[in-house]
Amino acid sequence: MREAGTTPAESRSAAGTDTGGTGPAGPGSTRAAVSAVPRTRFAVPGRIAVGEDTASTWQTATLAGVRRETPHAATFRLAVPEWAGHLPGQHLMLRLTAEDGYVAQRHYSIASPPDDSGHIELTLDAVPDGEVSGWFHTVARPGDTIEVRGPLSGFFAWPGDRPALLLGAGSGVVPLMSMVRHHRARRLDVPLRMVVSARRPEELIYADELGDETTVVYTRGAPHGVPVGRMTAAHVAPLLAEQPAGGWEAYVCGSNGFAEHASRLLVAAGQPVDRIRIERFG
Ligand SMILES: Cc1cc2nc3c(=O)[nH]c(=O)nc-3n(C[C@H](O)[C@H](O)[C@H](O)COP(=O)(O)OP(=O)(O)OC[C@H]3O[C@@H](n4cnc5c(N)ncnc54)[C@H](O)[C@@H]3O)c2cc1C
Repeated sequence: MREAGTTPAESRSAAGTDTGGTGPAGPGSTRAAVSAVPRTRFAVPGRIAVGEDTASTWQTATLAGVRRETPHAATFRLAVPEWAGHLPGQHLMLRLTAEDGYVAQRHYSIASPPDDSGHIELTLDAVPDGEVSGWFHTVARPGDTIEVRGPLSGFFAWPGDRPALLLGAGSGVVPLMSMVRHHRARRLDVPLRMVVSARRPEELIYADELGDETTVVYTRGAPHGVPVGRMTAAHVAPLLAEQPAGGWEAYVCGSNGFAEHASRLLVAAGQPVDRIRIERFG
């Protein structure tokens, strides 16, 4: 893992677009970029077909284990025996049903890479007063069952077939980590780089897993000698200057604010707008 600003050669930056969704926490709608930078827009090349039957069928998932990632984020391993498989970057719809019939549905990215284990992993931030994340963080115990359906969104999927430039903030690193894990598991030689933003080192999700492909930007507090600040052009431009054969496919994931910021950085650094894919967590 590289920390942004540790050497001039390692500094990087970024910018992006968006996807949508439904329900209380559904994916956001496309937003036009504002001000002087070119408009960003939805990019849909290489959309991957997801069987409608598969994506619309609720399946029972059993909580098999919990792994703490940071004081506010944990990974929940689910046994889903009938899981049809997924591509890195895809998400699912999760449903909790209370005893009185009250239902809450939320989208969650799949953190684990595609494999045949019959398990998938989700990493959830504990949102203050959050209904679903609160249940997972304070109530859920191994053996509990929930419902999931998916995988969803071929738009944000990365099959591993082209150079990938990944920009994420906070829990936006979750679908990007699925891509990194896939890249490693399959020993892909296609270039992959990631820039992630976290408030502080203790809030960096997957800190122990990040390798040389990753540059970390700290926005509130950093280890001694590492600058504190937002992701900037200085983080992204050197990556775009590398330009691997065929160019980068850029994937941006995080809050609305981060998605706008990161997509603008990418566009300003010369990334084609139709090769920027964005997932907004809201
Ligand atoms: C495609 C997609 C993938 C997603 N993947 C992930 C993921 O991998 N991991 C993950 O942790 N989340 C992810 N999210 C966000 C997730 O769907 C929920 O929005 C989040 O868990 C909050 O739900 P909740 O029921 O806990 O909170 P709610 O009960 O919906 O909200 C409680 C309060 O918190 C506010 N709030 C809601 N969301 C946030 C937020 N993110 N930050 C701060 N305040 C908030 C609400 O406005 C409300 O006031 C994803 C969203 C989308 C659209």
